[in-house]
Amino acid sequence: MQITVDHVIRFLERAAALIRDHAAELTELDTVIGDADHGTNLNRGFSAVVVKLDALQDGDIGTILDVTGKTLLATVGGAAGPLYGTAFRRAGALLAGRYTIDGADIAAALEVALEGIVERGRVQRGEKTMLDAIAPGVDTFRTAIVQGQSLEEAARCALVAVEEGMRATIPMQATKGRAAFLGPRSIGHQDPGATSAYYIACAMVGFDADPPSHQTTEMH
Ligand code: ADP
Ligand code: MG
Repeated sequence: MQITVDHVIRFLERAAALIRDHAAELTELDTVIGDADHGTNLNRGFSAVVVKLDALQDGDIGTILDVTGKTLLATVGGAAGPLYGTAFRRAGALLAGRYTIDGADIAAALEVALEGIVERGRVQRGEKTMLDAIAPGVDTFRTAIVQGQSLEEAARCALVAVEEGMRATIPMQATKGRAAFLGPRSIGHQDPGATSAYYIACAMVGFDADPPSHQTTEMH
């Protein structure tokens, strides 16, 4: 299956809708081990992305992802804005000029997005951040594609890995971001960034849910 510009736009619209619907939950998680702004920040950013998408229907996938990253960088703030912004911009740079992509392209784009988060966050796995949800998802997606699974199967397997990674942040002690200030008191709480990463991953599953030309029910 080939992923088109329409698929990418609908992925971003779904991501924005999921972040909006779960903004209170994300902020609540960030209240416990942070400063209570993660849902508000991300909702502001993804809402701004949706506004930008209107002018990008004829753009290539790389441009759409680059504009998404730039918009998140400009509007989200905090730790998450630069991290998600860098991830989307790196994926956009890799896919510059492309109007269709396949599973291997997506695996490569996820890989560079992950590298962007690692570099920008100076973070490794096990530090109780968004990386702990994203990295297992990227690994699982790549392995599934290499093994010849379909894009849909690979995305579903990856989503399971992201969800497990998100839950695995609960017993971790944070050593990056604001939660690190809490030391051992950060243990026992799910990381907000890992949780937003899970909702964004949810938006990637179901690429095949509607034909690209049907625009009737997708919007909020
Ligand atoms: P802030 O902590 O600046 O208020 P947000 O609340 O928007 O930023 O985002 C917090 C989330 O960002 C955390 O839950 C964590 O997942 C992620 N995070 C924070 N610092 C880092 C880092 N250095 N590397 C990766 N992720 C990080
Ligand atoms: Mg915060």
